[in-house]
Parts: sequence; structure tokens; C-alpha cells
Amino acid sequence: MIKQNLRDVLENIEIAKHNRPSNITDDVLLVAVTKNHSVEQMQEAIDNGVTDIGENRIQEALEKFSALDRNVTKHLIGHLQTNKVKQAVKHFDLIHSVDSQRLAQAVDRAAQSLNKVQDVLVQINLAREESKSGVDPDQLDELLSTVKDCTNLKLKGLMLIAPNYEQVEQCRPLFRQMYRLFQRQKEIYPTVEYLSMGMTHDYKIAVEEGANLVRIGTAIFGARDYR
Ligand SMILES: *Cc1c(COP(=O)(O)O)cnc(C)c1O
Repeated sequence: MIKQNLRDVLENIEIAKHNRPSNITDDVLLVAVTKNHSVEQMQEAIDNGVTDIGENRIQEALEKFSALDRNVTKHLIGHLQTNKVKQAVKHFDLIHSVDSQRLAQAVDRAAQSLNKVQDVLVQINLAREESKSGVDPDQLDELLSTVKDCTNLKLKGLMLIAPNYEQVEQCRPLFRQMYRLFQRQKEIYPTVEYLSMGMTHDYKIAVEEGANLVRIGTAIFGARDYR
């Protein structure tokens, strides 16, 4: 099932790429989100070509990563607490969820102590949803310049979790706005490379609007069991 689901997702991404404006030519990186799924499912996805894995919680991720028989690129996509920063830096290739100066500085310090340059994305709360992670759009420029000034952080791009609208098409203007922000930041910061947006219910629209990294769980692994 995972094999067929992966094939369907990759095909949908190809179709969405063809529906993009012609100036958008980026390839799209698929990050398979394995939270609440077993290490066997993770392994099956990897055996079928997945190169990039996304997890939300550090503890769960580390238990599963240690059982893998192959090296994969590891993405931390969930909210990061400052007391978990060191473990995050030690084990993840790309942290998607930097959303405050305080967190950026904590990740920078941890990276310094581990002698690592940590790749990060800045997560934006573009729809200004209450109780959602992500930096307020008004504070984005300031946060980006803080990240830039951190010697052990490398700013790799922007990340969005779109709101859960009743109609998924309602996400489109936000995705379009994110793409414009991404283009602008790319001109200012040459290390910027990724626009991380699009999950199971909205990735086709995200890719059509310029996402070049999608984070997909349910469409690959089925519904999560939270028991
Ligand atoms: C869980 C999660 C995903 C994947 O969600 P699906 O709807 O299962 O595709 C993507 N991004 C983040 C930040 C997540 O927490």
C-alpha cells in the first residue's frame, strides 16, 4: 500500500508541477512524515525510494531513527521547545520550525557547542492564527536578520502550515503570498533554497503555487492512530 500511495503522491506532484506558472521550475522534494507510524512503515517508505523523513517529536523520532538500516535526511517539522534544542541539533539535518529570536539563538548556541552549522527554516504564521506556531509576518524580517547573524545557523528558507479551511482552495492566496515572500528572501539571502508548504489535504495547491518541499504523512501511510 505504501508503495502505491507513494507512486500516487509523486504522480500528483508531477501533475501539479505542470499546472504551475512557467516561471516556476523548481523540483519538489517529498518529505515523508512518519509521526505516529511505526519504524517498519518508515523503513518500507525508504525501501521504496523515500530519501527524506519528517518527524514532530524528538523522542519518538530518535527511537525510530536508531532502528533504520540506511541513512536518510531528517527533518524536524514540529514545534521545538528550548529544552529539546540540543537533541534536535544533534540528530536533525533541517529544522523547519524556528519561529522566534529566542529559539534561533538557542539553536545557534547548541550548534556551536556541537561544532555544527545547523540548516533551518523560519516558520511563518501567515494567517495570524491564534495558538499556532510561527512568527508573525510583521516580525519576519527581524527574525530572518537574527538568523542570518547567527554564525552557526544557515537560513535555508521558509515554512508554512496552512490553516484548516473548510474549502482547501482558500489556502491558495496564502501559498501565493508565501511564494512571493520566498522570492524576495532568496534575493536578500542567497542561502535560501526551500519553500516548505503543503500537506496531505493541500499539497497539490501548494505545489501549483510554488512549494518546492512538501510534507506528507496521511496520503502515504494512511490515517494516524493516536491511541
Ligand atoms: C503531521 C504534519 C504533516 C503531515 O500531515 P498529513 O496531513 O498527514 O500529510 C506535515 N507538516 C507538519 C508540520 C505536521 O505536523
